[in-house]
Amino acid sequence: MMPTTDQNLALFERAAKVIPGGVNSPVRAFRAVGGTPRFITRAQGAYIWDANGQRYTDYIGSWGPMILGHGHPAVLEAVQKAVLEGFSYGAPTEREVELAEAILKLMPSMDMVRLVSSGTEAAMSTIRLARGATGRNKLIKFEGCYHGHADALLVKAGSGLATFGNPTSAGVPPEVVQHTVVLEYNNIEQLEAAFATQGHDIACLMMEPICGNMNFVRASIPFVKRCRELCTQYGALLVFDEVMTGFRVALGGAQSVYAKAIPGFEPDMTVMGKVIGGGMPLAAFGAKRAVMNHLAPLGTVYQAGTLSGNPVATACGLATLAEISRPGFYDELGRKTRALIDGLKAAASAEGVAFCGDSEGGMMGFYLLPELPQNYGQVMKTEGAKFNQLFHGLLDRGEYIAPALYEAGFVSQAHTDADIAQTVAAAREVFKLLQN
Ligand code: PLP
Repeated sequence: MMPTTDQNLALFERAAKVIPGGVNSPVRAFRAVGGTPRFITRAQGAYIWDANGQRYTDYIGSWGPMILGHGHPAVLEAVQKAVLEGFSYGAPTEREVELAEAILKLMPSMDMVRLVSSGTEAAMSTIRLARGATGRNKLIKFEGCYHGHADALLVKAGSGLATFGNPTSAGVPPEVVQHTVVLEYNNIEQLEAAFATQGHDIACLMMEPICGNMNFVRASIPFVKRCRELCTQYGALLVFDEVMTGFRVALGGAQSVYAKAIPGFEPDMTVMGKVIGGGMPLAAFGAKRAVMNHLAPLGTVYQAGTLSGNPVATACGLATLAEISRPGFYDELGRKTRALIDGLKAAASAEGVAFCGDSEGGMMGFYLLPELPQNYGQVMKTEGAKFNQLFHGLLDRGEYIAPALYEAGFVSQAHTDADIAQTVAAAREVFKLLQN
């Protein structure tokens, strides 16, 4: 029996009294799309249930980590066993070593990793390490790429290349972002100009190789190649932020995808999160030994964490990595994700709605635009009102996609062909309503 009152709304009103905006991370608040956020009570496989008992097919997957779906039996067993052995020790464990070894085996660009608790922490520590290792201060980032909410990374482009970026959040002093150079994604000319003028001062260039924070924009192969060449030429460190793409687009991450097109390609440093924790607070950053040797206690770059390498989180991460390492895992995941995007494209085309989409492994994105965008400016040409209509139309039909047009989506091992067919059918109904 459905409750007579809206339990999501009741909880949201209660939450708003004690938690700013009623949420613990802003995008959950549905501000961009309007309406009431769903308060989730449980999740299993490809589905989540809200406080009204309504079931949704989940294409957010906790914003990426749930690559196996919710409550995978092997992961659940590993976590339950770990919990009984203790929640946290603040001392080293064998499981941390096992997880570090497992990550390094899958991403051989690194010799060592440090485990932390969030992607933000991993990206922030990476920058400090890159600066400490190179003795330089400047960093390059790209407009539209998100690397967590460390002060130096909350910055948008200034009025020109020679100017500093501007903070995107109150509370970030301009002096803190004065070393952050913000460039347009996929713009080789701008990249070359920035290196020509400031190359010898740049500690690192940080990029999302497939940008999931612009929904789904691939860095072009020539662009990645040029980033690699210029970093090498000027002695800057190339950082791949694979918090979203790592173990999601392929077992070896986006770096393995680009290495297929650019022989010998490797980033210098990698930032990881999401899938490696399987839904628990766990993230990591790593590099070659020469760089990692600068990190405390070996070197002079300080970094630490009470819960780093947490025994329950590492158990969850290890069990997740074991499952995704099974032969054929990404073939099947990639096939289903492509089927979803192809199905949505066909449905939109049948209803005369401008639509495009792309996917890699279990990560996907789509736009109400005729062509895939290449940078932030082009992404933002999507009509917000139309996206909101699509979002709510799908939500009303039990399909849970990200409540913002600049967020990627995720398919898990637990999604079935029938789930995907149902999502496509629901989308077609909504596209009919969206017709120009
Ligand atoms: N880097 C990327 C590419 C991300 O997508 C995110 C979060 O979505 C982060 C870093 C920050 O990770 P966290 O939310 O775990 O702090």
